[in-house]
Amino acid sequence: MDLGIKGRRALVCASSKGLGHACAAALAAEGVHVTMTARGAEALAKAAAELRRLYPEVEIIEVAGDITTPEGRAAALAACPAPDILINNAGGPPPGDFRNWGRDDWIKALDANMLTPIELIKATVDGMVERHFGRIVNITSAAVKAPIDVLGLSNGARTGLTGFVAGLARKTVRHNVTINALLPGPFDTDRLRSVAAAQAKAAGVPVQQILRTRMAENPAGRFGDPAEFGQACAFLCGAKAGYITGQNLLMDGGAFPGTL
Ligand code: NAP
Repeated sequence: MDLGIKGRRALVCASSKGLGHACAAALAAEGVHVTMTARGAEALAKAAAELRRLYPEVEIIEVAGDITTPEGRAAALAACPAPDILINNAGGPPPGDFRNWGRDDWIKALDANMLTPIELIKATVDGMVERHFGRIVNITSAAVKAPIDVLGLSNGARTGLTGFVAGLARKTVRHNVTINALLPGPFDTDRLRSVAAAQAKAAGVPVQQILRTRMAENPAGRFGDPAEFGQACAFLCGAKAGYITGQNLLMDGGAFPGTL
């Protein structure tokens, strides 16, 4: 299926690894020119070089920096000032007990998982409206649909973003600019594996045991493949997806038990 976005420009935040990287790769495969960001310059350069090798017909730009800072966002936007596609992503906040979190912890979580996407939308959405094409996808979390008790910072910050976007997405769709969220459940990325390693250490069991148990608990019997996530993201960015907006698409192998 040709998604009709060949030659478009995308800014894909936090994309040297994991889900962001899968989105960048899926868009590049569709002929989209991609600007990738991450803090670690070395891993980013490696990821960008690999996409250039696989998709020589598209332009791959890499911008090292922390997207949750004003400087990081300015650098990303300088490299890609008028994206047709914006994929908002950043690392998730740490787990913990809300009794131990102060204002600074909350501000940090809000900066990363709510205010950074809003700032980037603010910087790009009017241009999309003028050009009559825009696709914005926010990578949030299954925690938006079903809170995870130890991830209170994530539950709160990401739900704030979701509420804001719910309003704006209905304003921009008239101009063929859609805003949606992808809600990952367990996907096999570095983050999932580092959380599993910490759980294994705390429980004094091998990490493979934690991973096997988590996979068995999921209705699909496995973790999600980041490439599956990238494909869903590319679809939402497709030219023919202009009637899908303000939606929160859960990708969790069926783990959320609700009928709707
Ligand atoms: P990952 O495998 O750890 O990859 C994270 C990517 O984001 C890396 O490229 C990382 O590179 C970059 N990054 C992190 N913080 C950044 C920042 N401040 N500025 C720029 N780049 C940054 O993580 P993932 O599993 O893909 O997760 C992506 C998002 O989905 C996270 O918010 C996570 O909480 C959420 N999520 C993931 C899962 C899952 O199962 N994987 C489930 C639910 C929600 P650098 O470290 O070099 O910056």
